[in-house]
Amino acid sequence: MPLSFDPDTIRMPKGHFIGGRYVDGKDGLPMRRPSDALAFANCPIADADLVDEAVSVAKRALRESGWSTRRPRERTNAMHRWADLIEAEGETLARLEAVSSTRPISQLIQGDVAVTAEQIRFFAEFADKEGSDLVPTGDDSLGMIMTEPYGVVGAITPWNFPLSMAGWKLGPALAAGNAIVLKPSEMTPFSTLYVAELAVRAGIPAGLINIVLGDGQTTGNAMTGHPDIAKISFTGSTAAGSTIMANIARTGVKPMTLELGGKSPQIVFADADLTLTANAIANSILINAGQACVAGSRVIVEESVMEPLVTSLLARMAAITPGPTWDETSDYSPVISERQIGRIDAIVRAARGAGAECLAGGKYLDRKGYFYAPTLLSNVGPDSPAVVEEIFGPVLTLQTFTDEEEALALADHPIYGLAAGLFTRDLSRAIRLTRRLQAGTVWVNRYSRSRDHILPTGGYKQSGIGKDLGCEAYQANRKSKSVLINI
Ligand code: NAD
Repeated sequence: MPLSFDPDTIRMPKGHFIGGRYVDGKDGLPMRRPSDALAFANCPIADADLVDEAVSVAKRALRESGWSTRRPRERTNAMHRWADLIEAEGETLARLEAVSSTRPISQLIQGDVAVTAEQIRFFAEFADKEGSDLVPTGDDSLGMIMTEPYGVVGAITPWNFPLSMAGWKLGPALAAGNAIVLKPSEMTPFSTLYVAELAVRAGIPAGLINIVLGDGQTTGNAMTGHPDIAKISFTGSTAAGSTIMANIARTGVKPMTLELGGKSPQIVFADADLTLTANAIANSILINAGQACVAGSRVIVEESVMEPLVTSLLARMAAITPGPTWDETSDYSPVISERQIGRIDAIVRAARGAGAECLAGGKYLDRKGYFYAPTLLSNVGPDSPAVVEEIFGPVLTLQTFTDEEEALALADHPIYGLAAGLFTRDLSRAIRLTRRLQAGTVWVNRYSRSRDHILPTGGYKQSGIGKDLGCEAYQANRKSKSVLINI
C-alpha cells in the first residue's frame, strides 16, 4: 500500500487528554505544518488549574487502580498490549506525526513508531524483575533496601522525535508503577495524545497517563513547580533545563533528570575506513535535517584525509530528496518552524562573516515550507558561532588536526558533552581516546544508537543530568527505602 497521503484529510486529536478522555482547551497557539508552512491547527495551553486537575486525576487513578500494588506482571502484560496497539495503529500514528512534525512518512512506520513500541516493551519487562535487597547489619537486625514508585511523575518533551520521546518517558514511568503527567512540545503534540489514548484502549487504567498541552512558560512552569509532581524528567534545550532547575529550586525540592543540548564532535583519523566514515557522518547530520540532540555537527579530521572526506560528504549532501513529510519519496526533512530556520541561517551567516568558507548549502531551499540546504562550512576557528552554538539544523563544520592531543582539544566543548564519534582502525587509540572524551555516549566507527534501548543516553557537562533509556531510566522512576527490622 502506498505510504503517501493527503495531509488535509487527517483529523488531529483535539484538546488535552486527562482521565482517559479529551478535554477541550481554551486558548490556542497557532500551528503551521513545517512541510508547507500552512496553518492547520491550534495547540491549547493548559493553565495552572488544569495542570492541577491532571495531577489530581493521576493521584486518584493511582490509588483506585492499584497500578503500583497489584502483581507487577499485570503492568507488564498491560504494557505489552499497549505496544501491540501502537504497532497495529502504526499508520495512523505515522500520519499524525508526519503532518505536524519534521519526520518523513517513509521513516516513521518501521522507524519511530516501531521504536516507540519496542521501548514500551523494553521497560514493561522491568516491572516484575525487581526485588528488594537484604543487606548485612552489625547486629541481629534484618536490613533491607526496598524500592517504590514516586507516585505522580512529570515529563516534558521536545519536538524533534515526538513519538520516541514519548516512549522514553512513558515506558519507564508506567513500568515502575507511577502515574504520569506529560507535556509534549506545543509544536508536535498529536502523536503523543494518540499514544496515550491507545494506552487506555489497551487496558491501562484511565488517568494514569495524562497529557497536558501548552508552552513552557505557562504549562511547563505549572508542572515543574507543582508540589504533587514528585519528580521531573525533561528533554529539551540547555537554556530551558536551566530555567526548570531554577523553578524547581524556587518552589521546593524534587529529583529531576535533564536531557539537554549537544554539539557533538566526530573525530576522523587518516587510517579510518573513509567510505564508512563519510556515510556515518552524513547520516548523522542529514537525519531529521540535523534536528537531533546527538547530531554529529563538528567534524574534526586529520589534515591528510580532509580532501577525500569532503568529496564524499559533498556527494552525500547532494543526493537528498527533499519533499513534504507526507510524500513517501521524501527523505530529507524540513526544519520545524520559520523561527528555527531563521536562526540556522543567522548562525551560518555569522560564521561566514567571521571567515568560514561555505562548501555546500548556506541557504534556504527554493520550495514551500521550511527547508534548509545541507551545509558544509570549512575554515572555522574554535570561536566561530557555527562551532560553538548548537544549531539544531543541517550544518556541519570542518576543522583539521595533526595529532591526537589537538583532536581532543578541539573536540572538547566548553559546555556540551552529549555524544562523540571516533573513526580509526587503531583499536588502542580508539580505547585511549574513548576514555578521555567528555561525552555521555561515544561511538567508534559508527554514529547512531540504533535500537539498543539497554544503553542509557544522557550528557556530560551542561548536556544533562541523569539518563534516559537503559536500566537507569527505570531506576530513576523509583525511590529507595532503607529498612531495619529488629528480630
Ligand atoms: P525547548 O527546550 O525549547 O523545549 C522542550 C520542551 O520544554 C517543550 O515541551 C517546551 O514547551 C518545554 N519548555 C520550554 N521552556 C520551559 C520551561 N521554562 N519550563 C518547562 N518547560 C519548558 O527544546 P526544543 O526546541 O523543543 O528541542 C530542541 C532541544 O532539545 C535541543 O537543544 C536538543 O538538543 C534537545 N534534545 C535533547 C535530547 C537529549 O536526549 N539530550 C533529545 C532531544 C532533544
